[in-house]
Amino acid sequence: MTTDAGPSGPPDPLQVVIVGGGTAGWMTAAGLVGLLGPKLCSVRLIESDEIGIVGVGEATLPQLRDFNRAIGVVETDMMRKTFASFKLGIEFRDWGYIGSRYIHPFGAFGRPIGGAAFHQQWRRAALAGHDSDLNDYCYAIAAARLDRFEHPSDDIRQVESTYDYAYHLDASLYAKYLRGFCERRGVVRTEGKIVSASVSSESGNVESLKLESGEEVAGDLFVDCSGFRALLIGSRLNSDWEDWSHWLPCDRAIAVPSERSTDLHPYTRVTAREAGWQWRIPLQHRTGNGHVFSSAFMDEGRATDILLANLDGPALAEPRTLRFQAGRRIRSWTNNCVAVGLSSGFLEPLESTSIYLIQRAVEYLVRLFPGRATDPGLASEFNRLMDVEYSRIRDFLILHYHLNQRTDSDLWRQSREMTVPASLTHKMALFQNSGHIEQYRDGLFSPPSWISVLIGQGLLPVDTHPLATATPIDEVWSQMLNLREVIAKRVDLMPSHASALAEIAPEPGGASAIPR
Ligand SMILES: Cc1cc2nc3c(=O)[nH]c(=O)nc-3n(C[C@H](O)[C@H](O)[C@H](O)COP(=O)(O)OP(=O)(O)OC[C@H]3O[C@@H](n4cnc5c(N)ncnc54)[C@H](O)[C@@H]3O)c2cc1C
Repeated sequence: MTTDAGPSGPPDPLQVVIVGGGTAGWMTAAGLVGLLGPKLCSVRLIESDEIGIVGVGEATLPQLRDFNRAIGVVETDMMRKTFASFKLGIEFRDWGYIGSRYIHPFGAFGRPIGGAAFHQQWRRAALAGHDSDLNDYCYAIAAARLDRFEHPSDDIRQVESTYDYAYHLDASLYAKYLRGFCERRGVVRTEGKIVSASVSSESGNVESLKLESGEEVAGDLFVDCSGFRALLIGSRLNSDWEDWSHWLPCDRAIAVPSERSTDLHPYTRVTAREAGWQWRIPLQHRTGNGHVFSSAFMDEGRATDILLANLDGPALAEPRTLRFQAGRRIRSWTNNCVAVGLSSGFLEPLESTSIYLIQRAVEYLVRLFPGRATDPGLASEFNRLMDVEYSRIRDFLILHYHLNQRTDSDLWRQSREMTVPASLTHKMALFQNSGHIEQYRDGLFSPPSWISVLIGQGLLPVDTHPLATATPIDEVWSQMLNLREVIAKRVDLMPSHASALAEIAPEPGGASAIPR
């Protein structure tokens, strides 16, 4: 392990070895050098070109902007080099029932009226005969529907400050972009295949890795970013896997890029299908598509036919199949190995949460970075935090399946009838009985997300908070009408998403530089 320089001096930097150069590997490297720096750690990353990376993962969450900002990535530069577009939310089609549509926005629904949450007042108004569409009171949704985009205002008095945004980006290019960022800051990259890992029989720690070339790489801390292979955390350390596929049965995805459509929507679209769902992600230069489905309910041939029959433009490559299982490692930090990315778990990409989970793991690793002495408490705390993150996302994803009124296929019938985690049952009951949303500090998702999906999937509160009734209903309704009008007028003045992107011209090199 690292030597101690004495009571007054800093310790030698910890030698960190990262296994894998996908989004997880390069985000980990960027987080360590960007947030801790060379005095605390030296970083070496090993990746195999022959094995390659997953390379899908094009939709992100607003939190990624915090990560980029913290390590010093400039938005326009990053967007230009990853052919990114802006994302204001996710449109769900046919989820509650065939024909239903709603947007899960990165933004608030209205503002509290008379001390009661806006959705409570909206529900109260509806129960009193003033029916209206909740989505009309959300600035992000109004902008998304009209394909508009501009950066949110910093002035919290303005309705233009009530939303957030994320990116659609080419995940392979984002990893490449971060590689350049890291190498300029001293991260050493080694290309090569790892063939074995030496683990101490005494401590259980990983001591070194052996490459196909014969080279041995030793380290203090190993970060397993080897993707679904889980080279260290799974194959060598046998960290237990918790299977959640009984709640989230989709286990396959077929992905294919298609020609860019003329409508450049600032949102991801996810359309429910007979045995799963299909994504459509608009980038600057192409559209990403994929069909996520359960192999228990559909075979790959039919899933591919459905995907190809529902593209907006001609396919640009052969469809590619990816296999996975919903679940996660119970202890993604085991001994001196931390799993980040797909090696630590996977929850289907419906709410674009994988890159977010990588970001959180990197932030927690930085926060709990081990010093000179080995402290098992750091690993326990890391695992506790990741448990919170995974479990909250799991519940939110299950909600989309469970709360449906579709009668057309077994997947939807089974999902509706299944017993869900007690934590989710509690959240749904709270909302149904009184419109209350459980609030928490750590983990996704915030109340507007829950509100949009609960209501979008068809669950309406039967009652509201008593505080809502303290304001006369006519006054509530008049404030609601006013807000709806303000939002409609302001959104109408916003620039289009296409013009916002035109300011971020692609890299020089023309169309030939554009990857498919
Ligand atoms: C169908 C699908 C859709 C997705 N969509 C989204 C999305 O919209 N949004 C989102 O946030 N996330 C999404 N994800 C997840 C996202 O793709 C991943 O979280 C992300 O790419 C991180 O992958 P990774 O770096 O963990 O693994 P990988 O990309 O698989 O990288 C693994 C690395 O390990 C290396 N490696 C493996 N074995 C060895 C070895 N023996 N020797 C040397 N190197 C080795 C490989 O070469 C590679 O560099 C999606 C995932 C899937 C499957």
